[in-house]
Amino acid sequence: MCCDIGALKKKAMDLYSIYQKFRSEKSCHEHLKKVRWPNGVICPFCEGKSIHHRKDDSRMKCKSCNSSFSSTSKTIFHSTKLPLLKWFAAISVIISAKKGISSLQLARTINVNKNTAWYLQMRLRKAMKEEQYLKGLIEIDETYIGGNLANMSHKRKQKVNPFKSGMVHKTPVLGLLERKGPVMLKVLNHASAKTIRPLLKQSIDASSKVVTDGFGAYYGIGNYFEKHVKLNHEKEQRAWARYNTSSLEGFFSTIKRAIIGQYHKVTEHHLQSYMDEISFKKNNPEEDVFELLIFKCLNPCAIY
Ligand SMILES: [Zn+2]
Repeated sequence: MCCDIGALKKKAMDLYSIYQKFRSEKSCHEHLKKVRWPNGVICPFCEGKSIHHRKDDSRMKCKSCNSSFSSTSKTIFHSTKLPLLKWFAAISVIISAKKGISSLQLARTINVNKNTAWYLQMRLRKAMKEEQYLKGLIEIDETYIGGNLANMSHKRKQKVNPFKSGMVHKTPVLGLLERKGPVMLKVLNHASAKTIRPLLKQSIDASSKVVTDGFGAYYGIGNYFEKHVKLNHEKEQRAWARYNTSSLEGFFSTIKRAIIGQYHKVTEHHLQSYMDEISFKKNNPEEDVFELLIFKCLNPCAIY
């Protein structure tokens, strides 16, 4: 993939614009071709550049390895039975729903059945997955999502003591937020130094200053970074205007509202993919990230 992502970000592509711009499957394929191979088609099997373009359909044939392929081969759209126009419509609807959209609502909006809508959402969330490397002033905090015993895995359910309240029946999510930069959300099996420290080391540059609360799992992380500011009291958060975790806490509230409002039944198993969608939208807040998501769907790595 060699095209410049920045150059692909264009202005809003709402549903009306999608149906106006892409009037046939062929025009969708042509668009994917342009985004995937801006400098001319390359065979996805042998990287050969000598390609025969068929006139009657959207398929192409590599003259070097004799493989037949299309603009969707080896991508998230590979072997899809759904028209590409429906995919484009789904992308447009999902990215414009700032607070998320349920699969039932998506099904009604683009006129597919609910299983297809759910499948589309899961595939697109896979493409939205982004790895971040953060640097500078980093807020670190964890939140706990869930609470509905019916949505819990059997293993976790066994640990729940119905006579005790606490966080054991919720799933911990670690949030890392670079001030004026991207955010990263990681679902954890349990929140402890053992699960949190390796994530911090691999995702945050050693020259960074990190801000956390007084949770025990963060003790000693100052050894890995330039500075570790530990906030023990709410008072301290207000007193130290520069060092606080309020941006991340605000973001956590947005997530909880999205979960309650749209994704009523989030299972532990799928929680990370919901987090990927939420952070993708937060990290790419431009008017429209339609082309960016199309580009990411065409990345062969996204299907694995
Ligand atoms: Zn080839």
